[in-house]
Amino acid sequence: MREYWQERFADTPDVLIGERRKPTLVAVLDFVVGGDEFVTMAGPCSVETERQLLATAHAIRRAGARILRGGAFKPRSSPYAFQGLGLEGLRLLARAREETGLAVVTEVMSERDVALVAEYADILQIGSRSMENYTLLEAAALSGRPILLKRGMVATISDLLRSAQTILDNGNPNVILCERGIRTFETATRNTFDSAGIALLKQITHLPVIADPSHAAGHRELVPALARIAVAAGADGLLIEVHPDPERAWSDGEQSLNFAEFEETMADLEPWIRLRTQILGRNENSPCRVLEAVG
Ligand code: PEP
Ligand code: MN
Repeated sequence: MREYWQERFADTPDVLIGERRKPTLVAVLDFVVGGDEFVTMAGPCSVETERQLLATAHAIRRAGARILRGGAFKPRSSPYAFQGLGLEGLRLLARAREETGLAVVTEVMSERDVALVAEYADILQIGSRSMENYTLLEAAALSGRPILLKRGMVATISDLLRSAQTILDNGNPNVILCERGIRTFETATRNTFDSAGIALLKQITHLPVIADPSHAAGHRELVPALARIAVAAGADGLLIEVHPDPERAWSDGEQSLNFAEFEETMADLEPWIRLRTQILGRNENSPCRVLEAVG
């Protein structure tokens, strides 16, 4: 019997869990996203200076993150806001990878920049504002790099899956979905964190799902709670904004954690992550089981 969601999302068959589909494991440097390890991506909203980035890279690594994030090309709400360091930002990210062994994820905003960003980044981020830019999705897919696909702020789950399907259709199976909050009538939070969306995506797709509590919350005080919710909902990892001095950040400072706050958040998540792994281990389709079976 076909499940309701197979009908509901019938136009994106390749992203759905099917009988023969094992969870997609996205290999990055020497680890895997979507497997039994819970993977955290962290770093500043924007790459600002060498000092800022390197200090952050070392701090997040000490706290257990695996992937350094940081925008070199920034989509901003105002055309007069800081637009990112561009190539200089990419070079700094590569330098931080060399020093720390962290992988690098950074946003690509234009088709024109795909080759350049792919040369420096381990994972290409497609931002919320670009989720439905199909020419960008195609170009990014063709680069061969894994793609972190952020949900558009007014995109339904079905819209998100269509964009993921487009990447798969272009020969790139390494898609990581990212829930970062959606726009609703609520304005007390920057966006409304769709934790049900995370649980649903984990049930119906074979792709890894990452949660971004920072852009959902918009306020740093809320980030640890949303991170716990994401773990409980079954996310494969987190994306968290971290800055050495959030008050002085060039973008998204109010939602960024400082080093101590990030370290504490990560430490407090440990029991939740252990519980999640235990529960997943009991589920036949879980990455943990599949990994055991594979070897
Ligand atoms: C970001 O990750 O800094 C960012 C701009 O995110 P989003 O595309 O989700 O707004
Ligand atoms: Mn940001």
